[in-house]
Order: sequence, then structure tokens, then C-alpha cells
Amino acid sequence: MSTERKFLDMYWDGRLPVDPWMIAERSGVRVIPDGSLAWGQDPLSGKFEKENNIPTIRFNPNESRVRQRFTIAHELGHCALGHGLAYRDPATNFSARTYNPDEIAANRFAASLLMPADMIEATIMDLRDPSVESLAELFGVSQVAMEFRLKNLGWLRG
Ligand SMILES: [Zn+2]
Repeated sequence: MSTERKFLDMYWDGRLPVDPWMIAERSGVRVIPDGSLAWGQDPLSGKFEKENNIPTIRFNPNESRVRQRFTIAHELGHCALGHGLAYRDPATNFSARTYNPDEIAANRFAASLLMPADMIEATIMDLRDPSVESLAELFGVSQVAMEFRLKNLGWLRG
């Protein structure tokens, strides 16, 4: 079973959109909105590290809601996948064009957490041919993220 599936099974309340903040907190990871991440030379969307020995996610609360949700899920991915003690993520790390294997893995984790394959399938069956836009809205992700996920799951042609 994938790590994100385990997290969903253990910590998700079954509601859409999936709440990555709640899942993180329930798994023992602290989540803190931190506007100062955006300041300075290289602005960050999020970071993960241990602070006073507590696994802690900080995210930029001034970005869009869907971006904040994806950032939290991505940082939780670094934690859950055991990527190490400190991750700093500028916006480029969330791009589909990143080549860093840890970033790719964290993005996959986030996509699967926020858009569980079985829920996508059930929703598509339910709504009968829904638009990418309406699915993105329902799952609380960007249209780009939803389109990417639908292609990966074979619902859309790449
Ligand atoms: Zn990252």
C-alpha cells in the first residue's frame, strides 16, 4: 500500500476536499501559516523541518487557497516519505518540470493525497462526464493539478 493511502486510511475523515492540514496534525505534524516565508531573496511556498524536535510544516498563507493546500500536502510528503530533516521549497519545486527525485515524490504524494484515485473515479461516475474545472473545485486543487492527475490516472489523454 502506498504511503499516501495509509495516511488517508488512518487520518482522513472521508470528506472532500481532503484537508491536508487536518491529516498532518492528526499524524503528529504541526502546521503553521508563516507569511515571512515570502520575504527575502528566495521566497518559499513552504518548508518542512523539526523545530524543537517537533516535525513542523510552515506554509505561505498569502498564496491562493489551492496552492496552500498543495504546499501542505507536499511538505507532509517530505515528512512521510522520510526525505530528511529540512526541506525548503520555492514555488519552482511544485512544478511538473522539477527534476529533483524527492520533489517529484513529494508532488506525487500530494496529488494522490488530495485526489485519491478511487474518489476521482467515484466522482466521475457520479457526475457523468464532469469538467476538469468542476472536479478541481470539488477536490480543492488547481485546474492544472487536476488535469495532470486525470492524465496520470488515464481519464484524460496526455
Ligand atoms: Zn519539496
